[in-house]
Amino acid sequence: MHKKRTEIIQKGDLKITVIYTGNEVVYGYAYADSHVMSDDDYGDDDMVEKEGPEVEDILIENKTGTIHLSDLLPNKLKDCRFVGPVDCGDGYKESERVITFGDLHIDGSILGILHEVGHVWINERYHSDGSLNYKKKMAKYERHAWGHALSLFNQFKRDGLNLEPNFDAQGIKKFIKESLLSHEIDHRYDEYFSSEGDIKNTDMEFWTGGVSEEEIDDMIKEFLKNDLNSEASLAISKSFRK
Ligand SMILES: [Zn+2]
Repeated sequence: MHKKRTEIIQKGDLKITVIYTGNEVVYGYAYADSHVMSDDDYGDDDMVEKEGPEVEDILIENKTGTIHLSDLLPNKLKDCRFVGPVDCGDGYKESERVITFGDLHIDGSILGILHEVGHVWINERYHSDGSLNYKKKMAKYERHAWGHALSLFNQFKRDGLNLEPNFDAQGIKKFIKESLLSHEIDHRYDEYFSSEGDIKNTDMEFWTGGVSEEEIDDMIKEFLKNDLNSEASLAISKSFRK
């Protein structure tokens, strides 16, 4: 018998209540620990299911009112579930119909969930848009999900519920910038490995608001911290300097 439980997180004037169903559900797949990576191996034999705690709803309240994050999902996708906290952090997996989240104590985590909710809403439109190349399509997808998140965020804030009480306007902007830049770096990393070291497309598509070389270097370092591939790091960092 699975037992329902709740967790309460206090953040500024917010009380965040996470209601767990007591079930563990599949939110994705990963290679088994025993898996050895090699160039000619794209088999799925070693894939294992990743499971995380299923969440019935997340309630956020202060003295002006309460919101239920499940109410932000489109009605026809009510079978979409929140799963977390999981180590991969925020994400929307269409195939599993799950929105994962990381540690809700961290500032930006609620904004991150609003972004994933944005993905759920706009997802279908993007699959059918064949007019853009892959990178442009992904960049548009990410930017629009942020647009959706920001409009929700601003609407709640006007109503007296600031979902990121420890962020000022600059903090919000920085958070979104880092998210979009990490997609840019991610994309160039994939490009680097799929084109034998030649990164052809150097247009900034995800974040177009300007960024310093130090910021990019720091982010690449962070991004590649577990990879330690200095050649890839150098190539990606060079691709930002036309
Ligand atoms: Zn996204």
